[in-house]
Amino acid sequence: MAGIEVTSLHKRYPDGTVAVEHVDLSIGDGELFVMLGPSGCGKTTTLRAMAGLERQTSGDIRIGGTLVNDLPPAQRDIAMVFQFYALYPHLKTRDNLAFPLRAEGLPKAEVRERVDEAARMMELGPLLDRKPQRLSGGEQQRVALARALVRRPRVFLMDEPLTNLDAEQRADMRTEIKHLQGVLGTTMVYVTHDQVEAMSLGHRIAILNKGRVEQVGTPLEVYDRPASLFCAAFIGSPPMNLFDVELADGALHASGGLVLAPPAGLPRDRSLIAGVRPEALEVTAQGADRTVPGRVVSAETLGDEINYVVSSGGRDVRVRMPPTVRFAPDAPVGVRHTGGIPPVYDSSTEELVA
Ligand code: ATP
Repeated sequence: MAGIEVTSLHKRYPDGTVAVEHVDLSIGDGELFVMLGPSGCGKTTTLRAMAGLERQTSGDIRIGGTLVNDLPPAQRDIAMVFQFYALYPHLKTRDNLAFPLRAEGLPKAEVRERVDEAARMMELGPLLDRKPQRLSGGEQQRVALARALVRRPRVFLMDEPLTNLDAEQRADMRTEIKHLQGVLGTTMVYVTHDQVEAMSLGHRIAILNKGRVEQVGTPLEVYDRPASLFCAAFIGSPPMNLFDVELADGALHASGGLVLAPPAGLPRDRSLIAGVRPEALEVTAQGADRTVPGRVVSAETLGDEINYVVSSGGRDVRVRMPPTVRFAPDAPVGVRHTGGIPPVYDSSTEELVA
């Protein structure tokens, strides 16, 4: 069993910077857990504390039920993969893979067997006799991953391992990492600031902001019901539209004129904001039923979809449409809500209320 429990983790650097403020995380055995957030939110610091590379100011970290606060990295049974591959430049792939095993003093035959197995899993056969400078970025990253695999740790900790790859390599490696994690069933904590990576990889995602955890949930949970305005704005591209709304006559009336179905249990005495995804709106001919009038500001054509910005009711509204629905910039249009009940936030606490 190698779940990870982080309790009240707090990290203040010597210069006074508070990087992590009382973070609690409970990561299941065999889970692929993603920590997502903007630059500087404390992801790396939290991960390095799990690894034992950074000492927390206070709080506890348990791996597989054992308190590891005072254990050095080598005794935590983790393997870490960083954004930079950190391969030994003078060693061939084969020896880069064998290095951590030889350092552990494993017998030669077992080193060979484990290196062969990892090379097979990461399809490194043809690269075994090359040194890093003769490998592409993607190949070097596969070697770095394989070097983590050979150790057969209880936990993988990954810090933006795909940052230096191009878009295609990143997509390939994402698939590979997810597949390997599924096959091995090893607990993995994966840090990224890329929401697409987080959504496509994670069993669950923790969204961090300013050293705190804003939400933990499955990709669908954080997409459908962001726990705060920060999460609502951070997840989704283009991001959610946030409308000031008022509850009247059993409906939510948004600034600008859209009418939305209200969730149950809305407080009456607070100012409210509704979050509406671009795909929950529709651009149509002006004057059509249940539409508010607007004008196309821009249309970004991505092949499989068009992202419109429509100026309507004195503000810009983002709408995602299939590529068949075409309106030119400046065209008069109507905007209509076609989605379900939106999440609603308290504008002063910025938290989800219903
Ligand atoms: P990024 O995605 O940019 O790596 P992050 O979310 O991983 O960001 P951290 O690297 O954990 O964030 O940094 C959190 C905060 O702590 C930031 O304000 C950063 O400037 C600060 N910080 C990180 N390392 C140190 C250090 N050694 N000394 C002082 N402050 C630090």
